[in-house]
Amino acid sequence: MEYSEGLEQAQSYAERTLDLMREHQIPATPRNFAVWYSYVNEKYPDLKKTLDVLRSNKQNFTPEKNDEIYDKFFTHNEEGLALQETSKRIEDQVGRVLTMIGDASGGVENFGQSLQDSLGAIAESQGLDGIRAAVQSLAMETQKMQQSNSALQEKLKESSQEIASLRQNLEDVQREAMTDALTGIANRKMFDATLRKRAMEAMEDGTMLCLALTDIDFFKKFNDTYGHQTGDQVLKLVARIMQGNVKGNDLAARYGGEEFALILPNTELKHARTLCDKIRDVVSSKRIRNRQTGEEMGNITLSIGVAQFRPGEPLSDLIHRSDEGLYFAKGNGRNQTVLETQLETIEAR
Ligand code: GH3
Ligand code: MG
Ligand code: MG
Repeated sequence: MEYSEGLEQAQSYAERTLDLMREHQIPATPRNFAVWYSYVNEKYPDLKKTLDVLRSNKQNFTPEKNDEIYDKFFTHNEEGLALQETSKRIEDQVGRVLTMIGDASGGVENFGQSLQDSLGAIAESQGLDGIRAAVQSLAMETQKMQQSNSALQEKLKESSQEIASLRQNLEDVQREAMTDALTGIANRKMFDATLRKRAMEAMEDGTMLCLALTDIDFFKKFNDTYGHQTGDQVLKLVARIMQGNVKGNDLAARYGGEEFALILPNTELKHARTLCDKIRDVVSSKRIRNRQTGEEMGNITLSIGVAQFRPGEPLSDLIHRSDEGLYFAKGNGRNQTVLETQLETIEAR
């Protein structure tokens, strides 16, 4: 979504958008705002036509209807990014207008003050009523100007705050979309986006990037024995430990059901191994116990495969090599970390 309107234009579109949303009792969520802003600026003729028809049919804009409209016209975009850009742009523009008006009204204030000063001077020295009256009326004009300016400024400030809060909503929605509901760490979607980003950076900066894939050992048996809900608690525990052991730009993500991933920028294989072994140690040292019944469930272990990104390769290749390491770890007794370099020596044998 690209908007190219100027400062004042964007401001007036934003106001018209909010008015329309109020008129149709549409909640001012970021998604709805994007739809109606696009209606107002007539950027998308199809969207405009659709909403015109709905409005003339006295359509009740229920939350379902609003979602449907949004999905129809906006879901082809990278999730939320376009939206974010839109509201950010509007907010920036309003901010700039505010600054401009702030500067201008500062100038007016000075002007008013200097008029007052000269009024006093003229009155004292010459007592010319005519001049005094003229200057007085100028001073009044100036005051009026200040008042209308501050009313405008107030109005702009309100809009700016409204837009800032829309943007905050939008960021919350995006964060939620990138978070795994059970464990609270990054989800697969976040994993995919981050891996792409870190691979680009590794190529640009010539730095190393490692990927570790982790799978819980014999987890099916654990679920079968102690129940799925207890299994879920274990997933939360593993996620917490992984999250607690990464830092900086590292990412711990839930990759699938009971599989987790670590994206490790600026990391060479042997340091990735050290980290993975540490995480395995912490996980396996926890004694799992049912708090209510006190029942002991032993401990759980992890198998991990690690590979290093080769600049330019498809990310599916990197994932595949990590997965091979993981597969080998499973076949070799589980509860261990296997690096891709170990696989090469195994294959060469
Ligand atoms: P292996 O050591 O070979 O990995 O054995 P495994 O039993 O862990 O085998 P596998 O990885 O194929 O099993 C995955 C099991 O993980 C199946 C399912 O019961 C469990 N699982 C997957 N997602 C969830 C989840 O969200 N919650 C719970 N409680 N269990 C899950
Ligand atoms: Mg598995
Ligand atoms: Mg498993």
